[in-house]
Amino acid sequence: MTKHVTLIPGDGIGPSISSATVKILAAAGADIEWDTQVAGMAGVALFGDPIPDATLDSIKRTKLALKGPLETPVGEGFRSINVALRKTFDLYANVRPAHSIVPGGRYGNLDLVLIRENTEGLYVGVEHYIKIGDDPRAAAESVAIITRIGSERIVRYAFDYAVRYGRKKVTLVHKANILKFSQGLFLDTGRMVARDYAGRIEFDERIVDAMAMNLVLHPERFDVICTTNLFGDILSDEISGLVGGLGLTPGANIGANGAIFEAVHGTAPDIAGKGIANPSALILAACMLLEHIEDDSRAARIRRALEETIREGKTVTRDLGGTASTDQFTEAVIARL
Ligand code: NAD
Repeated sequence: MTKHVTLIPGDGIGPSISSATVKILAAAGADIEWDTQVAGMAGVALFGDPIPDATLDSIKRTKLALKGPLETPVGEGFRSINVALRKTFDLYANVRPAHSIVPGGRYGNLDLVLIRENTEGLYVGVEHYIKIGDDPRAAAESVAIITRIGSERIVRYAFDYAVRYGRKKVTLVHKANILKFSQGLFLDTGRMVARDYAGRIEFDERIVDAMAMNLVLHPERFDVICTTNLFGDILSDEISGLVGGLGLTPGANIGANGAIFEAVHGTAPDIAGKGIANPSALILAACMLLEHIEDDSRAARIRRALEETIREGKTVTRDLGGTASTDQFTEAVIARL
């Protein structure tokens, strides 16, 4: 059955990597009808809004979006793209896989997924200055809010993800030894949820500082990692670093009312318009989207063609040490499909 998906090509290199991705999905026979919408600077140019209502309405209809990188306009008065998307679609789970593709890296065979709680914790934006004496900004306070409901749904999402994708273990990362209330609630709730999966998915827990070290020393010991907002922000970039940086990293924001898939890198203004951007991260994000709609075999075929093209190294873009253009790389992947 045809799936309707909102496509936000994005700014900078966005349109070129989006068109490469759409071509590859078409070549693989994906039955997707794209509803192309604008956001970022393209949204400002057309509608004076970086996240126009028409774009939000489209995602409300399709509940699925593939999003190119967006430039956030500088200056007051523009609503934040990420906040609008997160709030409208209650995007509570940020999913960041890290899988070794490029040969010769320090860790040749990693396959981790980090699932970060995206709506709570220290990033809720409850902050203020405290005036002491004459200094209105003598101190500042930021509040971390963690709820049982929020913790339960993210840990359950991590376990369900592990079941769905045939993974073996969920590691819960926390700092409950110091932040006994907020992190303690996350840990207690996590342990409770883990009981429902006992015998099916292994559960283990780590304190975040030890985890940061363990990920460098023994990353192969981990499988699915689940943590709160701030720790997830940091550790998700750490695991990307383990497999060669952000250039080949896709991500997904999954919510109760929609799912948005994207490349983790930005708009690459330095190479925009030159036809040399690497579309791999967005293609991998599209593979996550295909899996989300249960088209696993097509996602696997595209992944295989992409990874083989990269590993062979003959027709790769400059960031991977080659000389190929975005189009030549895209054609090489399609040829392998
Ligand atoms: P960036 O990721 O755009 O670029 C960093 C470096 O990586 C640059 O040298 C760039 O050429 C290179 N690079 C990135 N993606 C590449 C690709 N696909 N192929 C080849 N090379 C690639 O980060 P930045 O320069 O810090 O940010 C530029 C803009 O992107 C800013 O406006 C920022 O706000 C925005 N941004 C958007 C997102 C998003 O929408 N998801 C994420 C990060 C940054």
